[in-house]
Amino acid sequence: MPSKKPKEPQTIHCEKKAIYPGSFDPLTNGHINIIKRGLMVFEEIVVAVARNTTKKNLFTPQEKVDMINDVFGKEPKVSAVTFEGLLVDYCRSENIKVILRGLRTVSDFEFEFQVAQANKQMAPEVDTLFMMTESAYSHISSTILKEIIQLGGSARGMVPATIERRMRKKLLGRAKR
Ligand code: ADP
Repeated sequence: MPSKKPKEPQTIHCEKKAIYPGSFDPLTNGHINIIKRGLMVFEEIVVAVARNTTKKNLFTPQEKVDMINDVFGKEPKVSAVTFEGLLVDYCRSENIKVILRGLRTVSDFEFEFQVAQANKQMAPEVDTLFMMTESAYSHISSTILKEIIQLGGSARGMVPATIERRMRKKLLGRAKR
């Protein structure tokens, strides 16, 4: 059976605000790059830390928010929040119409495509906008950073120094190598 034709958008106007959701365990230079480039498109970006992630987390939601504020505290266009439950429900409650997500690899795309479609079905008024990673950040993920530090390596250039120190303290029980 042919799928139902989606409704054409009725009004043309620009959204000023986007939400950038994720685990951010912790915020990396890859995330920071997406947020900064997102500000070329949107006037305001809400970085939203998911509370109910299935991933094993190193940091608590509040610690993640604190680290985001450490980096963007002086930037009034960026705010950090936590949310629980479905992202689209949070978007509706805050009247946010655009979800910003980053893409690194083809495997990112496959997963993100499914999530975006599911979100669109649940909340047709909310759209997902993808930004390609810049090549300098394409290999950076919070998971890989945790492994590097756990194994005694340096994550310099991949994560802000203050966040690297916090990771080192959590993972190795000391701030310096
Ligand atoms: P999630 O667990 O929801 O994927 P992450 O914190 O891992 O949350 O990532 C949040 C968003 O940032 C995702 O859209 C992810 O693809 C994107 N992202 C993560 N790392 C990078 C990077 N190095 N470059 C570009 N986008 C990235």
